[in-house]
Amino acid sequence: MNTNYTVYENHNNPHATIHKNTCKQILKNGGTVHSGVRDGYNTFSTLDDAIKYAESTGLKYKACHFCLRNALTR
Ligand SMILES: [Zn+2]
Repeated sequence: MNTNYTVYENHNNPHATIHKNTCKQILKNGGTVHSGVRDGYNTFSTLDDAIKYAESTGLKYKACHFCLRNALTR
């Protein structure tokens, strides 16, 4: 089991969601980056890095309810 995290960012419906890489919800959201659209996925080795990136996007972000429930307290 790896410990990496994925940040999904959606600029059409502005928000970002932090997942564990193993989360099945990531695929549910599409799982691909479409040309010309900034929606995408970035992976990080630590939750701290994932949060820092999510903050840097300027989007509202949250932890996934499925894989990171209770992981974010701020
Ligand atoms: Zn998830």
